[in-house]
Amino acid sequence: MKPIAKLVHYAVQQRLLSPLDYDYAFNKVQGLIDSTEPYTPFDKTKPINDAVDALLKPLLDQAVLKGKISPDTTIQRDLFESRLMDVFTPKPSDIQKRFESLKAKSALVATDDFYQRSRKSNYIKMGRIAKNIDYKVPSKYGDMAITINLSKPEKDPKDIAKAVSSDYPKCLLCKENVGYYGHANHPGRTHHRVIKVKLNQEPFYFQYSPYVYYNEHAIVLHEAHMPMNIGKHTFLRLFDFVDQFPHYFIGSNAGLPVVGGSILSHEHYQGGRSTFPIDQAEAFYKSRMNGINYSLLTWPLSVIKLESEYKDRLIEAAEALRTYFETYRDDAIDLIPKTDQQHNAITPIVRKSGHLYTCLITLRNNRTSEAYPDGIFHPHPDKHHIKKENIGLIEVMGLAILPGRLVKDFKQIEAVLKGEQTHFEGIEQYQAWIEALKENMPQDKLADYIKQEAGKVFIGGLEDCGIFKQTTTDRKKFIQFLEAFIGWHLKL
Ligand SMILES: [Zn+2]
Repeated sequence: MKPIAKLVHYAVQQRLLSPLDYDYAFNKVQGLIDSTEPYTPFDKTKPINDAVDALLKPLLDQAVLKGKISPDTTIQRDLFESRLMDVFTPKPSDIQKRFESLKAKSALVATDDFYQRSRKSNYIKMGRIAKNIDYKVPSKYGDMAITINLSKPEKDPKDIAKAVSSDYPKCLLCKENVGYYGHANHPGRTHHRVIKVKLNQEPFYFQYSPYVYYNEHAIVLHEAHMPMNIGKHTFLRLFDFVDQFPHYFIGSNAGLPVVGGSILSHEHYQGGRSTFPIDQAEAFYKSRMNGINYSLLTWPLSVIKLESEYKDRLIEAAEALRTYFETYRDDAIDLIPKTDQQHNAITPIVRKSGHLYTCLITLRNNRTSEAYPDGIFHPHPDKHHIKKENIGLIEVMGLAILPGRLVKDFKQIEAVLKGEQTHFEGIEQYQAWIEALKENMPQDKLADYIKQEAGKVFIGGLEDCGIFKQTTTDRKKFIQFLEAFIGWHLKL
């Protein structure tokens, strides 16, 4: 079968398209590529088993030859692919109608349907995500999860030359991305769709991340392009979300630089159908008050777990804890809540299981000092060869997202350890680590050894983010902090 016919057969078989729309879609794709492929009628006896990337490749190659994709870079191919796949994607209003009618019966069926469509239309590029390297690292906190991220396309200098300056859409999260063609420095969103949802009676949109870092990685964004801001409204929205989608967790990054996510300019949350290493974390201290169970977790960051079946009380307590920590000061551990700007903040994560709500509150502080110009509670410079980016909520939960450069560099480091070479480009940042690696170097499985040691460095970076460290002294302080808070909250 020829490439256009094959792709349109795939779309019908994967239920992206009704067989009634076969001819229409065939002609649209033919027109977009300016192809002369002769018409092939739909044949339901011919199953297409190729991956969507393999079906798209010959069509994108043709589009390059026809000058529809220029220059020939991954980013330009992605832009064109988004327009092709839009042919098989219903209008936002139709997607919304379908989602709402499914959700009326089952929220799980509704999200599953939307997720499968997002995958099959290659909006979520599973083929590229499969290139990521995932592994586990055992630690005293349990098994931590590591992902070396190879799924984001790297910019080609030819793309940079084609970069345009535009302030529309205002950011990658804005709802106006729906259907947007994109350009060299804004990804194509022609076949991107969002679902309108109400959280705490406020307008939000639900979508999947095109680079899912975990199962059904969802993003929930505010209708308006306005900055991240955590307050009682945040808890009301997060708890409303898990009431509507109890099979998903949801969390918010802190609203401050250094300890926040990568996009602070647009109010948004991240959720999904996945568990994380933190869900297995043990408690080193427990307390109970007013129907709420409090636990302090054995975890590199400082996390308080609140559990209750009383939603309203839990929201009150979580918000009270946020305001209590906002002014909490302890000079002995270098914790200064505020200078000319706010430094203390929290990262909240909410789940629901049956009638039980769980809220994790991670304490954060973004102050910098002369000794730690990137952040006192941020991975310290001796970890930067592995991780220097912000520690956001996914990493707080024990899933590391490490930069793709590490794959190439680990191979070079292995060669250096074996004595096969002494130098490679960028070796300077690894020099001290390479010396340390030599100390306990095994005879074989060097590649595994390097990956495991890198995981330990990442965990060390998480420990740097801990406000109260996992030492006897700091654990005592953490317990005192919690008990003082509970006493204060009781009197409110
Ligand atoms: Zn925005």
